[in-house]
Amino acid sequence: MELNENARVDTSQVDDRRGSGGGGGMGIPIPIGGGRGGIVGIIIAVLVALVGGGFGLNAATNGGGDEQGDNTSLEQKCSAQDALKQLDCRNALYVNSIQAYWRTAMPEAFGEQYRPSKTVFFSQNVNTACGAADSGVGPFYCPADDLVYIDLTFYKLLADQLGAEGEFAQPYVLAHEYGHHVQDLLGTEAQMRRQQQRDPQSANALSVKLELQADCYAGAWAKNATGTADDKGQKIFKSITEQDISQAIDTAEKIGDDAIQQRSGRPVNPDEFTHGSSEQRKQWFTKGFTTGDPKSCDTFGSGQ
Ligand SMILES: [Zn+2]
Repeated sequence: MELNENARVDTSQVDDRRGSGGGGGMGIPIPIGGGRGGIVGIIIAVLVALVGGGFGLNAATNGGGDEQGDNTSLEQKCSAQDALKQLDCRNALYVNSIQAYWRTAMPEAFGEQYRPSKTVFFSQNVNTACGAADSGVGPFYCPADDLVYIDLTFYKLLADQLGAEGEFAQPYVLAHEYGHHVQDLLGTEAQMRRQQQRDPQSANALSVKLELQADCYAGAWAKNATGTADDKGQKIFKSITEQDISQAIDTAEKIGDDAIQQRSGRPVNPDEFTHGSSEQRKQWFTKGFTTGDPKSCDTFGSGQ
């Protein structure tokens, strides 16, 4: 994967809340499986998928030192010559690419207008419209405020603890979260929550379908990513290689429910799957990538 060093990073698409001290007086912690039902459910589900539920991010992994500041400093940093050497600037650019893709793809595929959503960079903990969360939960999308949340130290965890190496794991993770935003915009998410309430028995199976669709959407973005450009028309990616795609597939596999259950020493139990098996996640990402068409991501089956 090679980024175009001439592409402009649009930092207005991210909200840099690292070092804003949002951690101190935390609000109400997210009540797992209770209270706010759907919204909470999706968060927990996403988080568990990505980090396996068992890993807490250690404050000591918050390396990099230079991680403080508001958007003004991020904007300065990301307009510098070698901005793309910086993890946060690269991630802002990935967000730009993913949203540039959906701005075109959503009307094309679904006849609906895309509404941009910011990604919040936070460190250690953050207050969201879905409740308070800490880094241990991994990246997530909150449908109540339409924001993607990520502590960028998550990537270190992904590499160190899950063995998902390679830069392309990063845009894959973001593209998956933006897949949830698209589902939110299309009403897929709300529809699925209603279905879960009607039929609690199939709640996990429905969650798996929603997650696999987000993986498939990530694949569709990956296929079209080299066509995305910044607001001046500069291409964002110079190239995306087969190896990058393998890395994304590898990441999808590593965060499959069976892989996570195995890693945590639990027996593999498909009834407890909320995100799909390694094989399914790999399959659906690949389907999105092969077709490059989000309409093909029909994990709910035709007629949904
Ligand atoms: Zn998800």
